[in-house]
Amino acid sequence: MNPQEPTKKIPAVLIVDDRRENLLVMEQLLKSLPVEIHTALSGNEALQKVLEQEYALILLDVQMPGMDGFETAELMRLSEDTAHVPIIFVTAISKEQRHVFKGYQSGAVDYLFKPVESEILLSKVAVFLTIFNQKCELQQIIKELTESKQLIEQQNEALSRLTIHDDLTGLYNRRHMNTMLSQEFSRCVRYGCDMSVMLLDLDHFKAVNDTYGHVFGDFVLKEFALRLQQNCRSNDHIFRFGGEEFLILLPLTDTNGALSTAEKIRQDCESHLFVDDFVSVKVKTSVGIASFCSNRPSGPNDIISLADKALYKAKEDGRNRVLSYSS
Ligand code: GH3
Ligand code: MG
Ligand code: MG
Repeated sequence: MNPQEPTKKIPAVLIVDDRRENLLVMEQLLKSLPVEIHTALSGNEALQKVLEQEYALILLDVQMPGMDGFETAELMRLSEDTAHVPIIFVTAISKEQRHVFKGYQSGAVDYLFKPVESEILLSKVAVFLTIFNQKCELQQIIKELTESKQLIEQQNEALSRLTIHDDLTGLYNRRHMNTMLSQEFSRCVRYGCDMSVMLLDLDHFKAVNDTYGHVFGDFVLKEFALRLQQNCRSNDHIFRFGGEEFLILLPLTDTNGALSTAEKIRQDCESHLFVDDFVSVKVKTSVGIASFCSNRPSGPNDIISLADKALYKAKEDGRNRVLSYSS
């Protein structure tokens, strides 16, 4: 058998009758069908059995001492687990309409009259077996579809993480930066609110790579990214701009607000020791800032370019410092 193929469930039929000889006759009649046959001698026993397993069909005797077939069916209909099991009443009492009607009210889907004719019994049972098998197949399809849906959702999530995040640091990438910056810029134009852009560049980072190797350089970049997250507010957006450069978008923040956040980051970086198993170094950073209200940039690219000019000046002035753009 193909291990991928689910094992097919053999349908079970429950025969309920207070007389053993009747049970034996019915069992004999159903022997040729691909079913498991279970029996119960009373309504109570039948109720217990339907709770233990799922049946494709119940053949339920109407006249039984104690709880009769109608009462048994009504009780089965009360529980959600057993409410939909098909029931065929097997009765000798009367073919009168009112009995038949009572049976349907208690949840019967069909009637058989004693003495049961083999042909009729077999064809009726066969219909319910087909329905049961189709139901099982549908359940299997639904299960497989649900699993596929979950897989697709997980893959979509992973894909969206890849498309907007930077592999090394886990920060947002430059593509996402363009989207966010355009959105925030439009908001400032429309509502007249402020925003600032902060461009950060690690000082003499090439020397860190050259001295301690690229792997340690990567470790510093990851750790620096973590420290940026710790020093920013939750509604600031942090991006890896490229190489050892980072950009922070600060919505609703003026130049002074951005200057103080940048200074906090600069000091935190300056005082932090980047340590792995073998190496420990200090790394410094320079920061350039441009703001919507103070600098009146013409568009999202322009605000970056103004922040870059301020960064360039910070480098020129000796590095390890924060400067805002001034023309
Ligand atoms: P400055 O103070 O002028 O910014 O000097 P710098 O050395 O930081 O600048 P430069 O542009 O000369 O060198 C940048 C270095 O950043 C060189 C490059 O190897 C390193 N770098 C860029 N991306 C990565 C990266 O993903 N991992 C590592 N380890 N290093 C990187
Ligand atoms: Mg650089
Ligand atoms: Mg640098």
